[in-house]
Amino acid sequence: MDDLQCQPPATMHADLSRVLYDEPAILRRLGELAAQISRDYADAGELTVVAVLNGSFMFLADLLRRVPLPLRVESLSVSSYAGDRSTGVVTFKQTVLPDIAGRHVLVLDDILDSGHTLHAVRARLLEQGPASVRLCVLLRKRRVRAQAVEADYAGFDIADEFVVGYGLDYLERYRNLPCIGVLRADVIARGLTGAGQVAGSGHAS
Ligand code: 5GP
Ligand code: MG
Repeated sequence: MDDLQCQPPATMHADLSRVLYDEPAILRRLGELAAQISRDYADAGELTVVAVLNGSFMFLADLLRRVPLPLRVESLSVSSYAGDRSTGVVTFKQTVLPDIAGRHVLVLDDILDSGHTLHAVRARLLEQGPASVRLCVLLRKRRVRAQAVEADYAGFDIADEFVVGYGLDYLERYRNLPCIGVLRADVIARGLTGAGQVAGSGHAS
């Protein structure tokens, strides 16, 4: 099974113009991030991690198994993207959000791009009176943000390109790629084709 380790399925891999981070590189960086988080929250009592799904599911699992602190895991689901573009309108998919009053909250998301999503998530969580809210992202794009929001923890700073894999999708595909790569422009331009085509469907974070 070892050959699965860093071998993205060939058909999906062929849709990448290049790989930015393979699985060992991601896990190495998550080890550093986890150590930093573990140090920072060592004396904070119970930590509440709020994962923004679906994009953060791999990041959530691989990061938290490296954080040996007492913590609980909550999640919420938002959408703001259609294909490879942010619409700027952030929709919460659940009516009841996790109860975080008085808690130390660490929000996990896959990527900080325009800032709309994490700005809206943080604002909604702050309404409930948590003890603290910090933001942790796997990826942070180098660009001017539409909303004033910064990550307290970031795995990798990347150029302003559309990336997929390791949880991040294009029209719900590629989330299961074990690496992070740049999606080819012609793949974005033509949408998905072939088996499992979902062209025209929306994007859920
Ligand atoms: P923002 O609201 O900061 O513009 O974007 C947040 C969400 O948009 C992310 O959680 C992610 O779901 C999606 N997103 C932004 N940039 C990318 C990207 O390069 N690739 C993918 N697959 N999703 C992205
Ligand atoms: Mg997301």
